[in-house]
Amino acid sequence: MDFAYTDRCNEYRTKLLAFMDECIYPNEALYEEQIAATGNPNHQPAIIEELKIEARSRGLWNLFHPHEQWGPGLTNAEYAPLAEIMGRSPIASESCNCSAPDTGNMEVLTMFGTPDQQDTWLRPLLAGEIRSAFAMTEPDVASSDATNIELSIERDGDHYVLNGRKWWISGAMHPNCQIFIVMGKSDPAASPHRQQSQILVPMGTAGLTVVRPLPVFGYFDQEGHVELRFENVRVPASNMLATEGDGFAISQARLGPGRIHHCMRSIGASGRSAVPRSASGWPSAATSWTGSPRLGSTSRWCACSRSRRRG
Ligand SMILES: Cc1cc2nc3c(=O)[nH]c(=O)nc-3n(C[C@H](O)[C@H](O)[C@H](O)COP(=O)(O)OP(=O)(O)OC[C@H]3O[C@@H](n4cnc5c(N)ncnc54)[C@H](O)[C@@H]3O)c2cc1C
Repeated sequence: MDFAYTDRCNEYRTKLLAFMDECIYPNEALYEEQIAATGNPNHQPAIIEELKIEARSRGLWNLFHPHEQWGPGLTNAEYAPLAEIMGRSPIASESCNCSAPDTGNMEVLTMFGTPDQQDTWLRPLLAGEIRSAFAMTEPDVASSDATNIELSIERDGDHYVLNGRKWWISGAMHPNCQIFIVMGKSDPAASPHRQQSQILVPMGTAGLTVVRPLPVFGYFDQEGHVELRFENVRVPASNMLATEGDGFAISQARLGPGRIHHCMRSIGASGRSAVPRSASGWPSAATSWTGSPRLGSTSRWCACSRSRRRG
């Protein structure tokens, strides 16, 4: 595979690097201050909404979306270097409406949503008006194999009724989180890869409880990785994504690009964290990858990985 940047990718890289230097890095401290001032770790600070407007005006919006009808139509190979750049700051992805888990959820709604589901949930997500979460992992089963998922989804007239538990559900404590894509078992008697379905559950539906946020390596992330409880949660049958039994296939479609996005953001974050802070704070993006003799071994490993990846 040819990993050379295309002309289009280079244009977006140039614009994004300028946005990072001019708008993102200079506002990281303000972002922290605005959250701290409220005493609410999940507060949505005003600076993020301002950065969203600025990113949009620069054409740096929904960069992840591979479908031209909904976004710039970049391929995964073109988007990957942009995800790496955004990964260098915790506030860049949301500013460009490229945050997980919304990106994967928007792709699911694009590929599998009905026109009604797209109008209700995809359009506001693409506009950055709401956030979303993806609920698959469960405390009682080895969830890395999605065929183990047990939350029950049972048809009852014009509705489905959900019962079960989830955990590690990212983004559910974001104040703008309004919709969950939930994976569960709708037909225990079907073949292993046709037992699961995915269904839309709005935040606030009766019987859905956000139980608690979970710590990761002892820290609580902003927006939360939460435990959820579903007790007779009733949603209209029209909330089903695609058809009953398509859940496993939808997961595969979602997780493919999603894992690449996560990896690229992680490379960006680890590369930046490996660079010594200058006296004035974080170094600028332009100096982050220079391979200067000042850089420690972690930086050199990152640089090596990057050059290998580019072939
Ligand atoms: C920060 C964070 C955010 C997350 N966000 C989300 C989210 O938004 N939505 C969501 O649904 N999930 C989320 N997750 C959950 C994550 O996707 C799961 O933790 C992951 O898929 C693994 O599932 P599990 O925790 O059930 O581990 P398990 O499946 O129990 O696996 C534990 C270990 O056992 C191994 N293992 C499992 N089965 C077997 C087997 N049969 N034979 C041999 N080895 C086996 C695995 O390889 C692994 O090393 C998040 C997790 C974290 C840490």
